[in-house]
Amino acid sequence: MLSRFDYVRPQALEEALAYLGKNAGTRILAGGTDLMVMLRRNAEMPEHVLDIKSIPETKQLEYKPQQGLFIGASVTVNQVAEADFVQKKYSALAQAANSLASYQLRNRATLVGNICNASPGADLSGPLFVYEAKVHIANCQGERIVDINEFFTGVKKTVLKQGELVIGVSLPDVAVEDVSLYLKQTRIKGHDLGIVGVAARLTAKKKCLVAMSAVAPTPIRLTKLEEMINSQPLTAELAALAGEEVRKQIKPISDVRSSAEYRLHVSGVLVKRALTQLLAMGGR
Ligand SMILES: Cc1cc2nc3c(=O)[nH]c(=O)nc-3n(C[C@H](O)[C@H](O)[C@H](O)COP(=O)(O)OP(=O)(O)OC[C@H]3O[C@@H](n4cnc5c(N)ncnc54)[C@H](O)[C@@H]3O)c2cc1C
Repeated sequence: MLSRFDYVRPQALEEALAYLGKNAGTRILAGGTDLMVMLRRNAEMPEHVLDIKSIPETKQLEYKPQQGLFIGASVTVNQVAEADFVQKKYSALAQAANSLASYQLRNRATLVGNICNASPGADLSGPLFVYEAKVHIANCQGERIVDINEFFTGVKKTVLKQGELVIGVSLPDVAVEDVSLYLKQTRIKGHDLGIVGVAARLTAKKKCLVAMSAVAPTPIRLTKLEEMINSQPLTAELAALAGEEVRKQIKPISDVRSSAEYRLHVSGVLVKRALTQLLAMGGR
């Protein structure tokens, strides 16, 4: 049985922030696909639950040339996956969104909920890393913007402080020559977190960015691997070498989904595959 809590659904951002400021320990509810699981198990028993879905600022999903993309905190994963400007400009993000759980779940789940839950395997984190996204955070005193690189601090931990909520995330605009993709290995297609996720992007200036999920306590960007890749032209041989190199740069754990050894193996395979595909899409 659910424990008792006060439920509020403010219609304005100021109202929500004032409530969060007054009521310590309030849990924020977006799609509820992570939070409700915790509440039903009584793994969390908050006194206050604040539903953000009626706050206008969190409903925004907008692409503006030169400025980029803004995804509000109530925007569902299906809205992200189905937006034509996301599919055309930010394909790694559209693919990752499409790979998350099932269609029904994606109708509830939000991108921002995915990163705030801070699972090491969060599918939407990798694409946000390779697009160098920014997280827009507010409390009753004002707003701050944090690079996605600094957002995750540990397993299920982020930089978010008491009284803060995420309004949305922004991604810079990308050139038409920019190519990206997301690859994921799962046990059960459509209903499971990944064993490993790899997001990779090749910019118009031929800079390669790579990020992974489920191989460390937080999702990570592989800056050392990127340095190696970016020090020479991308070729099939370099893609294969990067697949071997990545295994030296990560230390995944064993859990219910996979042994550490299998994760390590799959990581190499997916990194090589991702770079090979980027090469075919827009290579150098
Ligand atoms: C059957 C099933 C399959 C799943 N499969 C996948 C999968 O394949 N890949 C994957 O990555 N995930 C998966 N998940 C996890 C989950 O669906 C996602 O993480 C989802 O994106 C969470 O979004 P939500 O809106 O439902 O978050 P919620 O449950 O509403 O919130 C998640 C957490 O973030 C906090 N939060 C939410 N919004 C904000 C905000 N604006 N500001 C501050 N804190 C906030 C909440 O308080 C809570 O702690 C699965 C879950 C289930 C139940």
